[in-house]
Amino acid sequence: MNPVRRVIVAEQVLQANDQIAVQNQALLDHYGILAINIMASPGAGKTSLIERTIQALPQRIGVIEGDVASQIDADRVAKAGVPVVQINTGGECHLEAGMVRAALEQLPLAELDLLFIENVGNLICPAGFKLGQHTDILVASVPEGDDKPLKYPGVFTVVSAVVLNKVDLLPHLDFDLAAYRQYVAGLNPQARFIELSCKTGQGLDQWLDWLTTQRQLVRRS
Ligand code: MG
Ligand code: ZN
Repeated sequence: MNPVRRVIVAEQVLQANDQIAVQNQALLDHYGILAINIMASPGAGKTSLIERTIQALPQRIGVIEGDVASQIDADRVAKAGVPVVQINTGGECHLEAGMVRAALEQLPLAELDLLFIENVGNLICPAGFKLGQHTDILVASVPEGDDKPLKYPGVFTVVSAVVLNKVDLLPHLDFDLAAYRQYVAGLNPQARFIELSCKTGQGLDQWLDWLTTQRQLVRRS
């Protein structure tokens, strides 16, 4: 195997991905939809945050669920009464723009204001593939430990908000919140840092306020 040729092929794959991502974003813009890519480790609470947001916001929301297998999350979101498409990557540990394009074809775009793209649970490669989203967020959670910004810095640098979920567990776990805030601010001073609990509802108002600001920003542009 020629390692140089393999590198070139990888670049071509990324270029093709980015071209489809540009087309996806143009389609979303045509319909005036704000698309947010949600990244996280497995179990951090991406789907719970989506469910909470659907309950709280009047905007018309659609969801794309990315998982290696199963439609557990899509079934949960469908129960909340919004259009949802499940992508099963069949082993791939991240979503790619072509998968999102196929999902967009199955969503009623004319009826949506906001689209959540729940990426595959993984803190590494989802940050490297453009999908057509307007912004990215990271959902972190207290049980993961406070060292994740140090171990997986890349994903923290590309997001516009870091949502720390499960803060109701802080009294029970050794999680240094002050240090965590400092790590995140050091990696990404622009990122909004939001502490909340999808279980208790604490802090959700901050998330909803931030989200509303994002929508207004897109409308103005
Ligand atoms: Mg999920
Ligand atoms: Zn991957």
